[in-house]
Amino acid sequence: MAKEKILIIEDEKDIVKMLDYNLKKEGFKALSANNGEDGLDIARKENPDLILLDLMLPEMDGLEVCKAVKNDTKTAHIPIIILTAKAQEADKIVGLELGADDYMTKPFSPRELIARIKAVLRRLKEKDKLPEALKIGDVTIDFSKIMVAIKDKPIELTSKEFELLKILIKAKGRVLSRDYLLDTIWGFDQALEIQTRTVDVHITTLRKKLKNESKRIVTVKNYGYRFELDSDEN
Ligand code: CA
Repeated sequence: MAKEKILIIEDEKDIVKMLDYNLKKEGFKALSANNGEDGLDIARKENPDLILLDLMLPEMDGLEVCKAVKNDTKTAHIPIIILTAKAQEADKIVGLELGADDYMTKPFSPRELIARIKAVLRRLKEKDKLPEALKIGDVTIDFSKIMVAIKDKPIELTSKEFELLKILIKAKGRVLSRDYLLDTIWGFDQALEIQTRTVDVHITTLRKKLKNESKRIVTVKNYGYRFELDSDEN
C-alpha cells in the first residue's frame, strides 16, 4: 500500500518546512505548492489523499482554491483542512461551506494538526467502506473472499486485476487517472519504472474476463478509467 499523500498549499516557507517535516515523520508523503495555481495543478496530477490549504495566499486566495478543488470532478473527493489566521474567522466558515472538512487556526501544534488529518482520513475511509459483497449487473464481487463471479460462475482474476476492479468500483463512477491507478496498485516507488501501459494491459485482461459487463469499464481518453454503475447504485 502506497503512503498517504498530503498536499500542502501554503506560501509561508517556514510553515511548509515544519509541516513537511512532521508529515514525513508520521509516515505520510508530503507535496507542496506555494500558490493556488500550482496547488490545483498538483492536486489534479497527483490526486493527494488530503489537502492542507492556507487561506492567505498571493494571487488566487485559499477560498478560491477550495472552490476550484470542489468544483473539479478530478479533485472534488479530496478532503481539505483549512489553515487560517485568527483574523480570518469569517473566511473559515465560508471555507467549510465550500466543502472543506476541517480547519486549524494558526499558530497550531503539529501534533494537533496530525491528529486532525488522521481523523479526517479515518472518517473518509469509514464512509468509503465497501460492503462485504456487491452485485452490479451480472457481476458479484465478494471483497472479503476476494472472489468475483459472473452470473454466479466464479471467474479467476489475478491479484492486480482484483485490486484494479475494486478500486474502480470504490470510486463510484468517478474517473481515476492511469497515474493514480499505478501509484495505488503498483506502489509509488515502482511507478517510475513501470509504464502507464501496465494499467491498460490489466484493464484489457480484466475486460475480457468480465465478458458482457466489460463495457462498464469506460476509457476516458488520455486520462484514465471509470467504472459505470447502474444509476440506483450511485
Ligand atoms: Ca499565507
